[in-house]
Amino acid sequence: MPSDDLTPLMRQYRETKRGYPDAILFFRVGDFYEMFYEDAEVASRLLAIALTTRDKNSPDPVPLCGVPHHAATGYIAKLLKAGRTVALCDQVEDPKLAKGLVRREVVRVYTPGTLIDPELLPPTASNFLAAIAPGPRTAGTGYDGLGIAAIDVSTGEFWVTEAVGDQAEDRLVNELARLEAKELLIPQMPDENLPTCLARLKDVRLCREPRAWFALEEARGLLLGHFRVHTLDSFGCRGMTLGIQAAGAVLRYLHETQPAVSLDHVRALNVRRPDDSMYLDSVTIQNLELVRSLGAPGDAEGAREGTLLGVVDRTITTMGGRLLREWVLHPLIDCRAIRSRQAAVGELKERLEIRVQLRSALRHVQDIARLSSRISLGVATPREVWALRQSVAAFPELHRHLLLLDSPFAKELAKSWDPAIDIHETIEQALAPDAPASVRDGGIIRPGYHAGVDELRKASTEGKQWIAALEGQERERTGIDSLKVRYNQVFGYYIEVTKANLQRVPPHYTRKQTLANAERFLTPELKELEERVTGADLKLKALEQELFEELRARLARETPRLQAMGRLISTLDALAALAEVAALHRYVRPEVDDGHEIRIVEGRHAVVERLMATGEFIPNDTRLDLEDHRLVILTGPNMAGKSTYLRQVALIVLLAQMGSFVPATEARIGIVDRIFTRVGASDNLAGGQSTFMVEMTETSNILHSATWRSLILLDEIGRGTSTYDGLSIAWAVAEFIHDPKQLGARTLFATHYHEMTQLEGSHEGIKNYRVEVRERDGDVLFLRRIVRGGADKSYGIHVAQLAGLPSPIIDRAKQVLAQLERANRDSTAPVPQEPLPFADATLPAPHPILEEVRQIDLFSMTPLDALNRLADLKRRLSSEE
Ligand code: ADP
Repeated sequence: MPSDDLTPLMRQYRETKRGYPDAILFFRVGDFYEMFYEDAEVASRLLAIALTTRDKNSPDPVPLCGVPHHAATGYIAKLLKAGRTVALCDQVEDPKLAKGLVRREVVRVYTPGTLIDPELLPPTASNFLAAIAPGPRTAGTGYDGLGIAAIDVSTGEFWVTEAVGDQAEDRLVNELARLEAKELLIPQMPDENLPTCLARLKDVRLCREPRAWFALEEARGLLLGHFRVHTLDSFGCRGMTLGIQAAGAVLRYLHETQPAVSLDHVRALNVRRPDDSMYLDSVTIQNLELVRSLGAPGDAEGAREGTLLGVVDRTITTMGGRLLREWVLHPLIDCRAIRSRQAAVGELKERLEIRVQLRSALRHVQDIARLSSRISLGVATPREVWALRQSVAAFPELHRHLLLLDSPFAKELAKSWDPAIDIHETIEQALAPDAPASVRDGGIIRPGYHAGVDELRKASTEGKQWIAALEGQERERTGIDSLKVRYNQVFGYYIEVTKANLQRVPPHYTRKQTLANAERFLTPELKELEERVTGADLKLKALEQELFEELRARLARETPRLQAMGRLISTLDALAALAEVAALHRYVRPEVDDGHEIRIVEGRHAVVERLMATGEFIPNDTRLDLEDHRLVILTGPNMAGKSTYLRQVALIVLLAQMGSFVPATEARIGIVDRIFTRVGASDNLAGGQSTFMVEMTETSNILHSATWRSLILLDEIGRGTSTYDGLSIAWAVAEFIHDPKQLGARTLFATHYHEMTQLEGSHEGIKNYRVEVRERDGDVLFLRRIVRGGADKSYGIHVAQLAGLPSPIIDRAKQVLAQLERANRDSTAPVPQEPLPFADATLPAPHPILEEVRQIDLFSMTPLDALNRLADLKRRLSSEE
């Protein structure tokens, strides 16, 4: 920036900009937000708007671009998407009343994780700002613990959790994958390990903040101050440190970047425990296409199509939509909680009339969670408060329907219901129906609410009537029939007389303006009337604004009640949506228990069946348990339907544990604590790494993280390498998983290595199934039916034919296959028949010296002892080499 003599405006700009060096400053000038210097260059490029200069005649003109103030939000959205932060600097006094330069201040800083504007927020997904507080790192094994905190400023939801143990980093990444935070705070640190393990996350802005923000005592102090409590134990934070550190950093960030935003609507800190819900890792969430279809770009709204959420989300309100998304990503593991949701869904499914009425009453309810936050933040417009009134008006009716239901969950909701009649009345009395979108527009306050408003309105209308009557009077007095009384922004009211009648203008008219064929005049009487009208209008607007702000402040005190009602209504909406889905798509209520059996009769894939005509999807049964059906090997040619079947089972289990009904004719689900899915060598997940390496890393993660209660789905594991390598790995993995002494988890293993079917005879608990195909006249017919027994052929060539490979290639491939099969028959099968002893085959034992280092108690040693011990360890290591 040149520092030569600046205009006062530019000086003011530069002073403001100094406080926000990293943001693009939207500087309000008249009806525009203007950007200068580098901001203008960057913004004009990103927004595709013209770049010009201010004061073109200066030798060193200032680059400038601008956007109209009423369209600012759309441009801000674009800049946020491009990874920028926007600071909005407004005129904070009326330019008409300002003496000299208008005062300007930054009133909001827009970052992706702190949005509160309906236009910028995804309606049916939360918008989180999160922070991570890493614990100490142990050499080689990563972090022992990590704290995570997340806040959605638009609703006031705030929670913490901690990931501990040797899987802490994985847990962290998986938690963040479900959270889909828009902004993530991490401490600035010399060690780059944390950012590396976060590299897998997409669409999140990483912000490195001072380490002091994450310090325990500082964080605790900030939280205690915010919630005005003496201890955080009442939130369930006893014993928590890393979580508190992360939560403190979140608050600190908000204070620093949004000093003008009060956080009064953030009333509680919730603690999430890892055992509250089913554990789903990021790969499984992707693979099962729970909330986003594979290959869908970024945060596109259309990404829901073809996902489980897309099928089950029949909620009416956006709040209900957000909750259902939560339910999909956090299935329950507590039988009682699941059954309680199921009973409510079942009742709503059966009682059609109540469901229909409830759902139609829900249509009147808007996003109370976000509306009440905006009220509490003091930014809600009159129209938004009117929307709250419309929503609250539906509470008593919803309550009446709810009271007709008998399930305990519904009764619980009805008991906590708050009809909020008083809130409705408060708004009803004060606010004019269909109040305007802006507080400056007037017409906000209902007639009869405030005597002052009524009087000023009367004065203004009467004044306008007098002025209207003046036209007639003046025509009569002057005898000029074409005389007009008109209004414009520059002069206010004036009298217009055509050139032809000028000689009849009386002397007390003062000339103001001459036009081509008319002249404009003022009279003292007109001026006086006008002052009365504009004076009344100005006062009226100010008074209406003041009364509206008073109303908003009064409603802000009801935030906790409105938030609670937001939660009740979203729960009701989500339950009714699941009932609707169950009724529409012929789902049944699964029996959920703490046993270990998974038995599904005529199960269907919730999403794939929707893409087909009714009756086209072939249903299949499933049986898995911890006895003779621990591990099912599913063989069949490519395209037979193996992956669909695997995913179908996972989706049914997941739906069941969400409390939903399931696409089947009968189902019994023994609770699953974690679902893992791995798809061999799938290229869209690899992101640059060798696909085989990714596949193996993921498989190894499963072997580490699964428990006997887990459900594991392996699809073509081992495909990413040579046939014998792949087969051997698949074989060994299957043996390990099926063995109760190693893991013994319920597993579906799809493979086209038909050699794997030999495991059945020699390993108890392994069963073969295949997808049936029929061969007719050299053609292959896919029956999509899963039956007992193993496949003995791959039919790969048939599939190639189906895919349109030229026939000479197909014929040649058949010849080669025949030769290979002959050669194979002549040598004996290369497959091991005996189960392998697995005692030593678990993961490699750590080096003994590592173990010794782990045992050392540093605090009971002198520095000299420690040095000696270190020298000893080094000596022993080098003698080993
Ligand atoms: P694989 O994993 O064996 O290669 P997929 O599961 O990808 O096969 O299925 C191949 C195709 O068959 C899919 O496009 C799917 O639409 C269809 N399909 C799979 N299962 C069924 C079924 N039970 N009923 C009808 N169509 C199915």
